[in-house]
Amino acid sequence: MKRVAIPLCLLISGLSIPYLQAQSLTEFNKTPLKKEVYVQLPIGSIKAKGWLLKQLEQQRDGATGMAEELYPEKDNLGKSNDWLGGDGNSWERVPYYVKGLVALAYTLDDAALKAKAQKYIDWTLNSQQPNGLFGPPKMKDWWPRMPMMYALQSYYEATNDKRVIPFLSRYFKYELANLDADPLKEWGKARAGDNMEIAIWLYNKTGDKDLLKLVEKLKQQAYPWIDIYTNNEFYFYGDDFQPKHMVNVAQALKFPVVYAQLNNLPANRDALLKGIQHIMHDHGQPEGLGSGTEFLAGTSSIEGVETCTVVEWMQSLETAAKVIHEAKIGDQLEKVAFNALPAQFSRDFKNHSYYTLPNQVQSIYGDHGFNQDYSSGTVSSPYSGFGCCRYNMHMGWPYFVKSSVMATPDRGLAVITYGPMEIETLVAGNKKIKITEETNYPFEEQIKLKVGLAVSASFPLILRVPTWSIKPTIKLNGKELNGVKPGVMFTISREWKNQDQLELNFPMEVTMQKQVNNSVSVSRGPIVYALEIAAENKTTKAHPVAGFTDYEIHPTSPWNYGLLLAKDNLNSLVKVEKSAMPENPFIAAASPVKLKVQARKIPSWGLAYNKVSAFDVPFSPVASNEKDEEITLVPYGSENIRLSCFPVIGEPKKISKNLTENFDQGMATDWVFYGGGWFWKNGQVNSASNAGSGGYGINGSKYVANGTDFKDFTYQADVKINTAGDAGLMFRVSNPAIGPDAYQGYYVGLNQVDGTVLLGKASDQKWIVLSYTKYPVEMNKIYNLKIVAKGDKFDIFINGSTKAILSASDSQYQSGSIGLRAYKALASFDSVKINAF
Ligand SMILES: [Zn+2]
Repeated sequence: MKRVAIPLCLLISGLSIPYLQAQSLTEFNKTPLKKEVYVQLPIGSIKAKGWLLKQLEQQRDGATGMAEELYPEKDNLGKSNDWLGGDGNSWERVPYYVKGLVALAYTLDDAALKAKAQKYIDWTLNSQQPNGLFGPPKMKDWWPRMPMMYALQSYYEATNDKRVIPFLSRYFKYELANLDADPLKEWGKARAGDNMEIAIWLYNKTGDKDLLKLVEKLKQQAYPWIDIYTNNEFYFYGDDFQPKHMVNVAQALKFPVVYAQLNNLPANRDALLKGIQHIMHDHGQPEGLGSGTEFLAGTSSIEGVETCTVVEWMQSLETAAKVIHEAKIGDQLEKVAFNALPAQFSRDFKNHSYYTLPNQVQSIYGDHGFNQDYSSGTVSSPYSGFGCCRYNMHMGWPYFVKSSVMATPDRGLAVITYGPMEIETLVAGNKKIKITEETNYPFEEQIKLKVGLAVSASFPLILRVPTWSIKPTIKLNGKELNGVKPGVMFTISREWKNQDQLELNFPMEVTMQKQVNNSVSVSRGPIVYALEIAAENKTTKAHPVAGFTDYEIHPTSPWNYGLLLAKDNLNSLVKVEKSAMPENPFIAAASPVKLKVQARKIPSWGLAYNKVSAFDVPFSPVASNEKDEEITLVPYGSENIRLSCFPVIGEPKKISKNLTENFDQGMATDWVFYGGGWFWKNGQVNSASNAGSGGYGINGSKYVANGTDFKDFTYQADVKINTAGDAGLMFRVSNPAIGPDAYQGYYVGLNQVDGTVLLGKASDQKWIVLSYTKYPVEMNKIYNLKIVAKGDKFDIFINGSTKAILSASDSQYQSGSIGLRAYKALASFDSVKINAF
C-alpha cells in the first residue's frame, strides 16, 4: 500500500489546501478490468458551497443530524440496536443511515456527525467474526451488509483507517466461500450490483483475483438484470416481488455498468441506457425517473415516486458516469438531483414524503390505491410511509457532491455535474490542484472554474456540455474555445497554470416535453417547472424531538389549470422572471427563476373519487371557456404540492372513428394504466401480478386509451385469462382512477370462476350488473370478445358468434374511451379493433 504522509498544508497564491490525502487513495482499474473508467474522488475531496452547501447543512440540522433522536427504538437507531451489539433488529436501517451519515459527515467535515458515525463504524470493524462475517451475528442476510460496505468505503477514503481493507478482504473471502451454500436471495439477489461495486473497488486496492471470482459469482446468482433492462422484463417474474419493485430497479441500474468493467461486452455497457429508455416509455415521469408504488406503476400523473427510488437512481447514474462517458448520464443525474430529490423533502429537510406525485395537489392522509399503499405515504413527516426511505435518503446530496467531478485514468478530471463547490485533489500524477467552481447553477447559466496549482501541470480536463444547452460556449482565460457543442464531453488537454480560468455558458431555453394524456411538462435547462400553489400546512402531530411535526398540506389557490400554447413560439409565450439568488433556492416563494405563462382553469377537473389525489390530467387538448390568466411556475423541487403535467387548452381531438392496436411494438402510446401493473410481452399486453402487495389495484386494474372517444361502435379484442378471475373490455369510459370501480363507464367481462359472461357498469363507484349469462370460460384460452354498442343497446358476441351471447340496455353513458380491465385475474390482451358506425 502506497500511502505516504503528505504535508497537511500547502499554500498556493494565498489559497490554502489544508488537508489532502485523497488522491493517494484513488486507484484506477487494474488489469483485467476495463481501463477507461473514471474513479470517484474520495469523499471529502469536493466541498459544497452556496446553495448546495445549504442543502447539506439543512440535513445536518434536520433529518440526518437528528435521526437517532427521531428513531430511538432498538429496532431502529436506538442505543441497543443490533449494529451496536444490542438485541434490536434494525436489519437494513442502520446500514442505510450510516451510509448517508458518513458521506454527509466527511463532506461537511463536521466533527459531531463524524462522532455519531464512528460508533457504528467501530462496532462493525471490531465485531467481525473469525470467519470474516460481520454485522449482527444473528442476521442471516447478505443484503444489509451491502450499504454498510459503502459506509466503510467512504469512511476509509476519508480517514485511511487501516482496519478497513483487511476487514473487507476477510469478509469477501467469507462471502466467496459461502455463496454456494447460502446463495443470494430476495433483496440481496436484487441488489448484488452494490456488492459487486465494492468488490471491484477493493480489487483495485489489493489486486486479489479472488475478488473478481466473487464478482462473477454474485453476477451469476443475481437477477439477470442485463437481460431485464435490455428487454423490458421487469414484470416477467410473476409473483416475485423483487424485479418489479422500483427501488430495486433503480438500484440495480448500476449492475450492468459495474459488471461491464469485468466483461466489456456492448450488451453490458448498453443495458443501463436501454433500461432507462424502457422505464421512461412505460413508467416515465416529468422529473426524470420512473414511477413505482412500489411496483412499476405507469405514466399516470397521480402515480408516485418513492424517496428510496430517487436516491438509488441517482447513485446508479453516479456509478454509470464512471463507465459511460456520455453527457446524457450527467444530464439525467442533474435532472433527478435538481427536481425529484428536493421534492421528496420538506423545505428544511426535516421531513420527507415517502411518495411524491407529478400532480400532487394536496398531501393528506388517505388511500391512493397503490400496490403498496400507506395512509401517510404522501404526508410530510419524519415517519412518512414505510421505514426504509427515512434511513436511506441521507446519501442523496452528499453522494451527488462526491460524484460531480471524477478522476480520469490519464490523470485528469472529468466534470459530470455542476454546482457551487471546491474540488481539491491531485492531477498529472501527484500535483495538487484546487478548482473553485463559482456559480449559482442550475439557477444561472454561467459557471466559472478557477484553477489553483502550485506548479503547472499537464492533464486533460473534461467538461460535460449539457445536451439541452443552446449555443453553449466555453472560454479559457477569456478566449472562446472551438468545437463546443451541446451533448458532448469536451476535453481540454493542455498545460494548466495557476489562476487559469474557465467561463462556461450554458444558455437555457424553455422547452415542453410530452407527458401522459398528451399533457406537457415545462423545463428550462435541467429544471422542471410546476405550478406555484399556495398552501396551508395543518399540523397533525408534534414529535418529541423539538421542531419536528407531521403536517398535511392543503392547497389554498386553484390548481386545475391548462396552458394556453396556441401561439407558435414557446419562448415568446413564457416569460422568464429572475430575482436575486436566495440562500435556499428550493423554496418556491424565493425561487430565483420563475416562469409566467398564460392559462385557463378547467372547471371539470377536480379531486378523484377518493378525495385524496386529483383525477389524472385530462387528455389534451382540453376545451375551456374560462378567462385567460397568467400563472406562475416554480421549480419542481421547490414545493411539496405541485402540478407538473399540464393539460393544453384547445379543441379536443380524440380518436372517434376507428382504432387498431395490436401491441406489436410494446405498450401502446396514449394508453394509461390505473392500479396494479401492466406490461408488454410477446406482442400482447398483460395485467401483472401484484402478489405481496398491500394494495387493491389489481382488483380492477385498468388500461385505458384516454385519447379515444367512441359513441356507437363495434369493439373487439382477444382476451385470455391466465389465473382464476375475470377480465374483459371497458367502453364509454371517463374519469378512470385507481380502484376497482373507480371509473364511469361499462365493462364486459369473462368470468372463469363462475363460468359467465357479464355486462355491467361502474356508477358512483359501485358495480352494477346489467346482464349476464352462463358461458364456459376456460383459462389460458383466447376469446375474441366483441361489443356492438348503438345508442342505449349493447350486444356481446364471442368468437365470431352470429347471434349475440348477451344483450342489455342502458342510457347512463353515451360515449367515452375504450380500455381493458382485469378483476382479480391475470390476463393477456391482443388485437384491439374498434370501428364507429
Ligand atoms: Zn423507501
